[in-house]
Amino acid sequence: MTTKDRPPICDYEGSDYQATFWEQGDREYEDQVEAIALQRLLPKAGKLLLEVGAGAGRNTPRYDGFERVVLLDYSRTQLRQAQERLGDNPRYIYVAGDAYRLPFAPGLFDAATMIRTLHHMAEARLALQQIRQALRPGAVFILEFANKHNLKAITRYTLRQQAWSPFTPEPVEFAALNFDFHPKTVRGWLEGNGFHIERQLTVSHFRVGALKRLAPARLLVGMDALMQWTGNWWQLSPSVFVRAMATGDSPTAAPGTFFRCPECEHFPLEETPEAMVCLACGRRWAIHDGIYDFR
Ligand SMILES: [Zn+2]
Repeated sequence: MTTKDRPPICDYEGSDYQATFWEQGDREYEDQVEAIALQRLLPKAGKLLLEVGAGAGRNTPRYDGFERVVLLDYSRTQLRQAQERLGDNPRYIYVAGDAYRLPFAPGLFDAATMIRTLHHMAEARLALQQIRQALRPGAVFILEFANKHNLKAITRYTLRQQAWSPFTPEPVEFAALNFDFHPKTVRGWLEGNGFHIERQLTVSHFRVGALKRLAPARLLVGMDALMQWTGNWWQLSPSVFVRAMATGDSPTAAPGTFFRCPECEHFPLEETPEAMVCLACGRRWAIHDGIYDFR
């Protein structure tokens, strides 16, 4: 893929998203219901987990059953914030990179998560394909996506307050690089890319401003936790979590291999103190203060 053909990327570089959206944005309810869904779907233990779109590491401490976690984000400033939050801990590996061309040897990970990230992907299917490639057979993938087929959108569409249909399969880009997806479409993409869907949880049923102001967060979190289990039968919440397993015959990364060149897909790479070097195409991928930069 040449630079010109690459899909556009929603880049949080220089953003204070963590502070404005999560810490001052009255998102306690959303954060807690996500934590519950994650806990229900995550394997209790594992070796190496890939967190795609890790941002400032809000969810990372929730992966404490894993020996090591790779935080991948396109934005280096988000990763710096994650480093500050999580501290200097060899369990965490920070990688700046593009989900459309992941810099990892095929079959490296035994688990991956992608939370609130597909939401920004113009080429969602390509990202899912890349993640499947990075996983070994039997690995677990937890995907969260924004659901266009949610109760609020259905109501607004029925009342003619909204132009786009929540019932049609194609993603809706309601703001630049912000997409909502139809659950059936996402399931189709997963199944078409070597995943078997094991469980679906519907999340954030009560993400309604008025309700969040009126009812105590604890009550809403408790009710959401109960309703999450209906996710296998129908999906009408704004957020859906899917647990899928990597199936089929695909390679498992050999011991000692880790990164691959995102430019030419060669691996393994040579590590120097300042860079990862690709001996096939000659590219040097810099390492800056603990961040592997594959952009
Ligand atoms: Zn290369």
